[in-house]
Amino acid sequence: MTVDEVRALLQQKDRIDLSFYPTPLQKLERLSESLGVNLYIKREDFSGQSLFGGNKIRKLEYLLGDAKRQGAEYVFTYGATQSNHAMQTAEACRKAGLKPVLYLLAIVEPDEKELRGNLLLDRIFGAEIHIIRQEDGETEAEANDRMFALARQQMEELKRNGHACYDIPKGGASPIGTTGFIGGFAELTQQLTQQEIHADYLFHATGTGGTMAGLVAGRRLLNSDMKIISIDVTCHDESYVPAKTALGNEALAWLGAQQRLTEEDFCVDPGYYLPGYEQPNEGGTEAIRMMAEQEGILLDPVYSGKGFAGLVDYVRTGKALQGSNVVFLHTGGATALFAEREILGDLLL
Ligand SMILES: *Cc1c(COP(=O)(O)O)cnc(C)c1O
Repeated sequence: MTVDEVRALLQQKDRIDLSFYPTPLQKLERLSESLGVNLYIKREDFSGQSLFGGNKIRKLEYLLGDAKRQGAEYVFTYGATQSNHAMQTAEACRKAGLKPVLYLLAIVEPDEKELRGNLLLDRIFGAEIHIIRQEDGETEAEANDRMFALARQQMEELKRNGHACYDIPKGGASPIGTTGFIGGFAELTQQLTQQEIHADYLFHATGTGGTMAGLVAGRRLLNSDMKIISIDVTCHDESYVPAKTALGNEALAWLGAQQRLTEEDFCVDPGYYLPGYEQPNEGGTEAIRMMAEQEGILLDPVYSGKGFAGLVDYVRTGKALQGSNVVFLHTGGATALFAEREILGDLLL
């Protein structure tokens, strides 16, 4: 398919405008020189209505388009207390005239007397915020299930009283949300063509996997040979790639496309996230400092810093060839730089 053909498929779907696309594609001259590759950055951090956008906005254009079509009044979603997705959902809901309800798991304990980072922004956007804490003897997974059960109860209650609710999974990683990054990949492809660049690699941080599934599905539709390297930011078991293959395929089916993905289409690297989600590491800290000191661009310790650390390591170890054309997808998240100190680690030194 061509970019125009992919766009025609996307245009059949309900979507609301939440941003100023296309996001810029820039060459990073100084880092290109120091790393020995041609390094480009796609600025998904420049999206949304405020300074604090990110990769969830593209997904939300379709998700909230669907919510509006269904006549929803409330939008429910989930994440950690410093969730970028939850904050961007609150932001997008306000633009769309919807009421955001956030269920947030306290993986890092927030100081409720001094809200920080995304949680502060959630408050300013006027979102209804429910913070769920892991109880004694409860695992994180159990606390997570309890969070979903509480939200379901509230949704049922609202529905009984005649209020329509729309439910968005963590990260917006549903087939409809994933569609946003089929469009994102088409947009990137068009920019690369216009700038006469043949990209060998695309690196990005992956979490709930909707961004990855959309990019990989977009690559399939456009028959691109770009290698997509997805740097994991949290611990996933062996069900991750099969689940994201299915997610990409559901998005393709929803669009009415014939093409399908297999697990071999994915390349997920779990080598850069330890010690865990929202826990900083040395590679991430170095990557954030490199990008800040050599290009004046801010990454974050939870996602984009670890994603870029993966890219830097691939180049240094020759896994990505010297002289190749490498694109880094900046997925946003810099609000984490104003979050709790546990998330920042050595950046404070
Ligand atoms: C959510 C997020 C990601 C991961 O995107 P998924 O679609 O959840 O995999 C990467 N970077 C940032 C900054 C994010 O907020």
